[in-house]
Amino acid sequence: MKAFDYVAPRDLGAAVALLAEHGASAKILAGGTDLLVELEAAARVPKVVVDVSRLKELKGIAVTDGGLRIGAASTHNEIMRSPDLRNLFPALVEAAHTIGAVQTRNLGTLAGNLVTCVPSMDSGPALLALEAEVGIMSPRGAKRMPLAELFVRPRKTSLKPDEILTEIVIPKANLGKPSAFLKFGLRKGQALALVNVGVAAWIKKDCFVAPRIALGAVAPTVMRATRAEAFLDGKKVSEEAMAEAGRIAATEAKPISDFRASADYRRDLIETLTKRALATAVARAQQSAKEAVA
Ligand SMILES: Cc1cc2nc3c(=O)[nH]c(=O)nc-3n(C[C@H](O)[C@H](O)[C@H](O)COP(=O)(O)OP(=O)(O)OC[C@H]3O[C@@H](n4cnc5c(N)ncnc54)[C@H](O)[C@@H]3O)c2cc1C
Repeated sequence: MKAFDYVAPRDLGAAVALLAEHGASAKILAGGTDLLVELEAAARVPKVVVDVSRLKELKGIAVTDGGLRIGAASTHNEIMRSPDLRNLFPALVEAAHTIGAVQTRNLGTLAGNLVTCVPSMDSGPALLALEAEVGIMSPRGAKRMPLAELFVRPRKTSLKPDEILTEIVIPKANLGKPSAFLKFGLRKGQALALVNVGVAAWIKKDCFVAPRIALGAVAPTVMRATRAEAFLDGKKVSEEAMAEAGRIAATEAKPISDFRASADYRRDLIETLTKRALATAVARAQQSAKEAVA
C-alpha cells in the first residue's frame, strides 16, 4: 500500500477543519474494513486519512425527541447489542448480525456500510424500510436528508469530500413499527447477499398500514418497492396478499445475472424473501398487540 498521512482528530470540529483544509485529497476512515481493502489495490491513495472512528459525537444509540438516533460510527456489534434497537427495530439488528464475521462486525460501522454504497449492503434495506434520515456535518454546517438521497449509484453517494455522516435517525413516527430483515447468500455466514429485503408495516384492524419494502443487491442501489407497497397498503393480512406483494416487488427490481446468480433466480428470491419478511413483521405486530393487552 502506498503511504499516506494518518490523523485522528480529537473532536468533530477538528475533523471538519481537516476536511476543509484538505478537500478531495483527504479520506474519512472509520473501521477500515472497506477502505483499507480499497486502498491496498488503489493506484492512488489520499494524502491524508482522517480517522473518525473514536469521535464521541459519532457514537451512541438512543431514543431522542426526534426518533431513534444511531451515531454514524456505531459498529455492527454495538447495533446488535443495543436494547433499544433489539426492542424497537429488530430488522436492523438482524441486518447487522449477517454482516461478515465477528471481527468485521467489531470494526465495521453503520456509516461505512452506507457510504461504501455497494448494492448488496445489508444495513440499507432495513433502514430504507424504516424511512431513516441521515445527519451530515461539513464546513458549511449541519444538514439532514432522507437516507434514500444518499445513494447515487454503485460505490457513489451524494456526499461531498468534506461531508461527514454524523448520525442515522429513524423518525419518531416509526418508533416500534414492526419490521424484519432477510438475506440470502451462497453460504450461511460471511456471504454477500444475492438478495436482501427489509420490511416494516403497521398492522391495524388486521390490515397493513404504511407498509414499506426495501430490496438490496437487485438494482444499482438499494431501492424501495413502491408499487408492492401501494398494493399492500390497506389490504387485509393474508398469505395471498403477502405473496402478491412479493411478486410485484420482483417486477420492480432490476437484478443482473453474474457469477453468483442469474437475474431470474434473484427475482424468485425477491418473491420468497419479501413474503417471508412480511410474515415475520406481521407476527411481531401480533405479538406486540398481545403483550399490550396482557
Ligand atoms: C471479510 C468482510 C466481510 C464483509 N461482509 C459484509 C457483509 O456481509 N455485508 C455487508 O454489508 N458488508 C460486508 N463487508 C463490508 C464492510 O465490513 C461494511 O461495509 C462496513 O460496515 C464498513 O464500515 P467501516 O467502518 O469499516 O468503513 P471504512 O472502511 O472505514 O469506510 C468505508 C467508506 O465509508 C466512508 N466513511 C466511513 N465513515 C464515514 C462517515 N462517518 N462519514 C462519511 N464517510 C464515511 C469512508 O471514507 C469509506 O469511503 C465485509 C467486509 C469484509 C472485510
